[in-house]
Amino acid sequence: MPLITSIQKYSIHDGDGIRTTVFFKGCPLSCVWCHNPETQCYGKDVMYDRERCTGCQSCVNVCPQHAIHADGDKVVTDTDVCDRCGTCLDYCVNNLRELAGKEYTVEELVKELRKDEMFYEESGGGVTLSGGEVMTSDMDYVEKLVKKLHHMGITVTVDTCGFAPYENFRRILPYVDTFLYDIKVMDRELHKKYIGVDNELILKNLEQLSKDGARIYIRIPTVKEVNGTREQMQEIISYLDDKKIHVAQINLLPYHNTGAGKYGKLGQAYDGSGLHAPSSEEMDEFVILFQEAGYQNTKIGG
Ligand code: SF4
Ligand code: SF4
Repeated sequence: MPLITSIQKYSIHDGDGIRTTVFFKGCPLSCVWCHNPETQCYGKDVMYDRERCTGCQSCVNVCPQHAIHADGDKVVTDTDVCDRCGTCLDYCVNNLRELAGKEYTVEELVKELRKDEMFYEESGGGVTLSGGEVMTSDMDYVEKLVKKLHHMGITVTVDTCGFAPYENFRRILPYVDTFLYDIKVMDRELHKKYIGVDNELILKNLEQLSKDGARIYIRIPTVKEVNGTREQMQEIISYLDDKKIHVAQINLLPYHNTGAGKYGKLGQAYDGSGLHAPSSEEMDEFVILFQEAGYQNTKIGG
């Protein structure tokens, strides 16, 4: 069963209207700027807020695996030894320890998502499946989930990086209202450098999805050092034109580092500190560039 890190209600940035966004755990990419690093690994992650830790060592003493050790006036968790039992969570007096990743049956998840049905109806919203990368999750589970929501009249949006077997897209296509599909950068070497894989499969899947009639919003995380020039934006436009991708909307998403603090909680380093968002003038220029190329429905933000 897939693991879910969070269910975010009243979201207005993950598709049309007011949406409830489900974050699936596990992603085949490793974008340098990822703001949901707790969704990258397919298994559970133990997280802890080192900054606020008082070093009381209550967690050290209760860990059945002896995975937590003193580290100066803080503690450190050996993630190779930790079996994610969750015991330490209950013993931290400061409530600083958490486990990322929870199992829900499809029925439990649908029950939770239906609680917001009134907001979906009033706003033209619905449910967004995000992550992590939902298209690399347990597809029997995902197919069952989207079918159920679809048959209940709840629209489903899938937020995807596109790096998954096309068969996975084909399975859920009839039940998905919109795909939020990322294009990061056209240059394959830059793609490898900042995202961890080249973009061949991602682009091939996008072309097929478009041919198969999917409704697609192209999302472009816009990072000065990665794709933040007119030339790089023009490369994306030329690609969309050449391949005749049916684009319903383009969202330019300026880089932000709001997820940086989570890396420390996972015991990882954040490698994106040298990245920047383009200036607001540059973002406005990119919007105009897309609009002049015929992509009128181009916006900053999602
Ligand atoms: S989750 Fe369990 S094994 Fe891991 S550190 Fe906490 S108590 Fe130890
Ligand atoms: S129980 Fe909490 S505050 Fe105490 S050492 Fe462990 S993480 Fe730090």
